[in-house]
Formats: sequence, structure tokens, C-alpha cells
Amino acid sequence: MVTNTDIQDLGHFINGQTVLGKSGQFSDVYNPSTGTVIARVPLATKQEVQEAIAAAQAAFPAWRALSVGKRAEIILRFRQLITENIDELIDMICTESGKTIEDAKGEITRGLESVDLAINAPHLLKGEYSVNVGGHINAYSLKEPLGIVAAISPFNFPVMVPLAITSMAVAVGNCVILKPSERVPCSALFLSELWKEAGLPDGVWTVINGDKDAVNELLCHPAIEAISFVGSTPVAEAIYATASKHGKRVTALGGGKNNMVVMPDADLEHVANAFLGAAYGAASQRCMALSTIIPVGEDTANKLVGILADKIAKLKVGPYTDAEVDFGPVITQQSKDAIIGYINRSLEEGATLVCDGRNPEISKQSNGFYLGPTLLDHVKPGMEIYEQEVFGPARNVVRVASLEEAIALINAHELGNGVTIFTNNGAAARKFTTEIEVGMVGVNVPIPIPVGYHNFGGWKRSRFGEGHMFGPDQVRFFTKAKTISEKWIEQGNDVTSSFAFPSN
Ligand code: NAD
Repeated sequence: MVTNTDIQDLGHFINGQTVLGKSGQFSDVYNPSTGTVIARVPLATKQEVQEAIAAAQAAFPAWRALSVGKRAEIILRFRQLITENIDELIDMICTESGKTIEDAKGEITRGLESVDLAINAPHLLKGEYSVNVGGHINAYSLKEPLGIVAAISPFNFPVMVPLAITSMAVAVGNCVILKPSERVPCSALFLSELWKEAGLPDGVWTVINGDKDAVNELLCHPAIEAISFVGSTPVAEAIYATASKHGKRVTALGGGKNNMVVMPDADLEHVANAFLGAAYGAASQRCMALSTIIPVGEDTANKLVGILADKIAKLKVGPYTDAEVDFGPVITQQSKDAIIGYINRSLEEGATLVCDGRNPEISKQSNGFYLGPTLLDHVKPGMEIYEQEVFGPARNVVRVASLEEAIALINAHELGNGVTIFTNNGAAARKFTTEIEVGMVGVNVPIPIPVGYHNFGGWKRSRFGEGHMFGPDQVRFFTKAKTISEKWIEQGNDVTSSFAFPSN
């Protein structure tokens, strides 16, 4: 039995210290595997956000003045501390998000790719130099930090997304304020301790906990220069609109509805195995999770659905403490109820049930927020379950007659995060990669998430603004260019006035 004394009150991390919230307002943090409250996270007031911004402003001049090599040394130490403390971090991710241990390990490893890229800041910040562009003038460009930037992260990657959207920002000389998801705040607070231990000066890294009120203050405050957001599409769109209106540089990554096209020549056993992990891993709570499988031709569809039904029946759902489980719970009871609602309405709209996960058998008995794997066949465009991002293990089969039909279907959808094709036909793959309107495309790769040194981001309503997560675009996003034209005149060589527009 959980008593109130087992529930920890969390704080914020401001100016190098953990401080308790002053608002008296809290949000419950659950262990989704057991359904119990494990902590209360404070919801910051406008004033607390302002205090955090003031601390960051005070830290900025010294941080930007520190050599980029010294900054990289601190980030390298931070990386070492993450790997030294990886077991504690895994445990934290699993406890607050419900992920399996292997999945949490994978998330940290992918997050470290962003830290690795940030350690390369001395190389990535090198500017451009042109000698004698005209009139003995040399021109060079610099990449300077923006100042105070804010990052807002979702619940489904408690470590990877915060690392991905903050590491480069810190490395290039900004001070960063992270507002993590109120459902998974523990991991972000733990990262704060590691930054401190790594020697990051106070005020350079801040965690402010809260909900939309805290976010709103970050979006409107004049000292915040840029917003890097990752979350659902409706919130991403609203963040983009408000922050842009307040003159900030914004990148806002939204949700996904990711398809796997299966050509008749593909090896269907292999396809089914690839689909299972990419569709149901992390209880389908990934922006790059496959939500729909699109077999081309009735024969392909009939065979594939049969193979999938057999394999899905063998999947195991339960808490991360059971090493045998394939995936854990969804994040909240509300999320579970919403997913069941989607399944029920899809059946009313004409979908058919291949596998029903609404009342799953759980490997260990508990009150966690579990759903089993559901597969719905004969799903069609226009049905709610096809059009909306369903953030849980209810997946679809949409049958099409041709590759052209599959491409047209995917291109007509408002989201364009990830997509993949499974085929042995190079011409089909080439047609697909050329004509598809989606940001991240796979060929025989089930989850085409770019590695940390390539840009990550969707198209259409999966991304608002012009920045990317991961990759070299992070350097561009978190810096501003300054271009200097420089001329030194030898003594006695006077400059005469010229009233013509300068040219080379
Ligand atoms: P969410 O949009 O509900 O919340 C994301 C963040 O925004 C949280 O920090 C939350 O506190 C804050 N927030 C929520 N409502 C807000 C509002 N009205 N105003 C201001 N801030 C608000 O997303 P989530 O449920 O935490 O995460 C899941 C979603 O994130 C899914 O849609 C998933 O596809 C998406 N996601 C996208 C990517 C990507 O790279 N494109 C990566 C991970 C997750």
C-alpha cells in the first residue's frame, strides 16, 4: 500500500540548486506499471519562471565568453557521468514512463548521440573566411549564441528528447531552460545533477517544472530568444503561433502517423517481425512508431494478416521488472481509456478486429495502465483511427491495390513524420523515396530515425518552423550569424570618400 509519505515532492533546478516550488500547485507523477503515484511535481508560477530566466541571464555573459574547447570539456564530462550513472537513469525512465529496460537503454544511447555531436562544437562552430573580397577587405562569418533559449519536451522520451534539444544549445554558448513533461520530470532533474557534477556553471542549465502556464511565460518573455518544442501536433502548432508572434526563433516537432508499405515481393516473415517491434515497442508511444501497415494487393494482405495474427498472439505485456515482456503500459489511465475509445469507434465505422488488446493478460498482476496489442483490418481513410495519431498499441491494416495508391494515400495525410517501404524491387523503392512527401523515409528499415549527426524532423503538420532535432541543423538553429568585413590600411594610404554603393 502506498502512503502519502512514499510520495516525493519534487522541485525545480534553478541557478545550480534544487528549489522547492512556491505555487502550492502540483501534478501527480505516476508509475504507469503499477498505477500508483510516486511523486508530485510543482507547477511553476509566472514569477518562478521569471526568476529562472533572470538566473540564466546572469550566467550568460561568462558562459558565452568561455572558450568553446572548455565548454566541450564540460560536456564530455557530462557524457561520462551519464554512462557511469546509466543504471540509475534507466531505472528512473522505466519507473516514470513504463518502458522496458532494453528500451530505456536504447533511448539513452540515442540521446548520447546528441551529446557526442555537441562535444564536436569546436569543429562545428568554425566560421567562413574569404581573403580580399575587394579593396583589401577580408570577410569572415561567426556563429554566435542566441542567449537564453527554452526547450519543452514530451513524456515519451524522458531523456533522449531533452538531450537532443538542449546539448548543442549549451555547447554553442547559450543558457538553456528546459520544461520537461510533467508526467516524467524525475529524469530531467537527475540530468541537472549530472550537469552540476560535470562542472557546468550555475544558471547555464535550468529545469522549470510546470504545465501550460509555465510554458506560456517562456513563449512570451522577451529574454527568451528561441523555443525548441517536441510534443503533439495541436500543441506544436499553438507553440509555433505564440512564440513566433513574440519574435522568437521556433522549431516545434509534432506527432506522426507512420506507414509501412509492403510490396508483394517482400519476405512477409521478415516484414511481420520488423513491423511488430516498430509498431508495438514502447506500447506504440513513439512519434516514429508504425501505426499502419499497407500491403499492396489482396494476396499480400491476406497472407500478412495471417502471419501477424499468429505473432501478435505471442507478444507479452507487463511491467519492466519482468525481463520477458515485449512492452509495458501506456502513460496514464486517461490515455488507456482514449485508446479503447478509438478502437470501439473504429469497429462501428467498419474496421474488423484481428487481435483485441482491450483486456490484456498481464505478466504480473497490477493496477498499471496496460493495453495489449490490437490489430484492426479493413481500416480506410476517413475513419478516425486512420486520420488521428493514436498514441497506444492499436494498429491498422489498410489494403491497397498498387504502389501508386499507397503513395497517394500517404501523401494525402496531414502528418508526414516517418514512413517505410519493404520490397526487393529497387525501382519500386526508388519511385517511393522520390515521390513520398514525408520527412524521414525508410527502405527495408522499420523505424527510419536518423542517427544523431543527421537532421531529424517530419514534414507537413509533423513539424512547424524551420529547425530540426539532432544533426548539424542544431548548430544553425541555436546560433546567429555575424559577418565581418575587415580592412587594415597601411599608414599613409588614405581612404577617399566614395558615394557609390560599395562593390568588389
Ligand atoms: P504534449 O503535446 O501533450 O506535451 C508536450 C509538452 O508540452 C509537455 O511538456 C507539456 O507539459 C506541454 N504542453 C502540453 N499542453 C500544452 C499547452 N496547451 N500549452 C503549452 N504547453 C503544453 O505531448 P505528450 O503527450 O507529452 O507527448 C506525446 C506527443 O509528442 C505525441 O504526439 C508524439 O508523437 C509527440 N512526439 C513527437 C516527436 C517528434 O520528434 N516529432 C518526438 C516525441 C514525441
